[in-house]
Amino acid sequence: MVNIYNEKILPSKKIIDVLKPRLVFIPLISTLGYKYDMVVKVGDYICKGDIVGINKLSNFPIHASVSGFVIDVVKKYSLDGSLVDTVVIENDFKERYRNKRGKKKYINSYSKLEFINMLRDNGIVNLYGSDYPSFMNYYDKENIKYLIINGIDDDMFSSTNSMIMYNYTEELLAGIDAVLEIMNIETCYIAVNYSNELVINKLLKYKNTYPNIKIYGIMDGYPSGSELNILNSIMDKNYDSIPDDLNVIFGNVSLMYAIYEMLLYNRPLTEIFITVSGSGCKDNANVRVKIGSEISYVMECLGGYKDKKLYMIANDVMRGNSLKNDDVIITKDLHTIVCLPVKVEETIPCIKCGKCSYVCPSGLMPIMIIKNKERAKKLRIDKCNNCGLCSYVCPSKIELSNIMKSIKEEK
Ligand code: SF4
Ligand code: SF4
Repeated sequence: MVNIYNEKILPSKKIIDVLKPRLVFIPLISTLGYKYDMVVKVGDYICKGDIVGINKLSNFPIHASVSGFVIDVVKKYSLDGSLVDTVVIENDFKERYRNKRGKKKYINSYSKLEFINMLRDNGIVNLYGSDYPSFMNYYDKENIKYLIINGIDDDMFSSTNSMIMYNYTEELLAGIDAVLEIMNIETCYIAVNYSNELVINKLLKYKNTYPNIKIYGIMDGYPSGSELNILNSIMDKNYDSIPDDLNVIFGNVSLMYAIYEMLLYNRPLTEIFITVSGSGCKDNANVRVKIGSEISYVMECLGGYKDKKLYMIANDVMRGNSLKNDDVIITKDLHTIVCLPVKVEETIPCIKCGKCSYVCPSGLMPIMIIKNKERAKKLRIDKCNNCGLCSYVCPSKIELSNIMKSIKEEK
């Protein structure tokens, strides 16, 4: 485990709403590659939460995050740097829904089938870096024993999970409690870093209200938030991959909060929480944003940048993608925007310190693999999860993780 310099924003800092973009861009393909067939046309008036596109294979929809007119279909950059078709909606700022739905009084009363259908119909994805449809995690699962909720922000710039746990403690716990009852799961563990006292103390206030929800402290450092690390810590095991037959289901704090809102209002996911941080930003903040907003709009609302030459990253500094600029749309898999001043670091030859092998959570020897590409398969390159730790510790500044990624793609 590597301890890294921490630029986190305290979760008690006020959450800023940045919810009034003039235009939103709804992508017709997800980062994972799910294609959506467009079901609206240019000129249509649509309401917030209306279906804009549908993936016919899984019947999984993508929704409008504002009400207004569909004015165009244009290409925009997505978080992974690809150009994607997007449906442009001009916001009328009325936040109009097609059907008025009241609040559900008792959110634990849905059946398992109703819950799974709601996850699909409301476009709920795993969030916090993943746009995998959540209903697929639940629909074929029987006899789940544990629900493990990742509440760790192991990246030095993100505090999205902490912010939700601190500011929406009751809502989060009510959402988890509902999932436990609906899916007939015995116990939930929320994994939180030991040092996150502010959050742990807040969660512990409710320990008697929700005795089936346990708070589990995980050693600080990177990659403490990997599912495998959390699983091994909680189960006191040493799995080197997550067994298929384990009766465990994973989730995260962002997802559980989205599920809480879904159960309460039965309406689609249109907004997410993200962290904006790094010494290149004028203001570091935790924000609530519309899905489909441009990153440039959010940055403008937060006062812009300190410098013109910036290095921007979507999601983890270790695992995320670097962005060419801020003309990128916000999709459900975003949890952090990092802006750093450009710093040129020269790469020098490997000094054989062995640090890259020492830190690798998958037990690999990255420099050995890079030097022996033809033996990469034998040296188990498939186990590399591109966590970025080897690049981070390398004193020679060799971009090991990127090289590993490209070798993996070649194979
Ligand atoms: S990027 Fe791959 S090789 Fe490097 S530390 Fe992570 S898992 Fe190991
Ligand atoms: S950490 Fe860098 S310098 Fe050290 S052995 Fe690995 S590649 Fe070489």
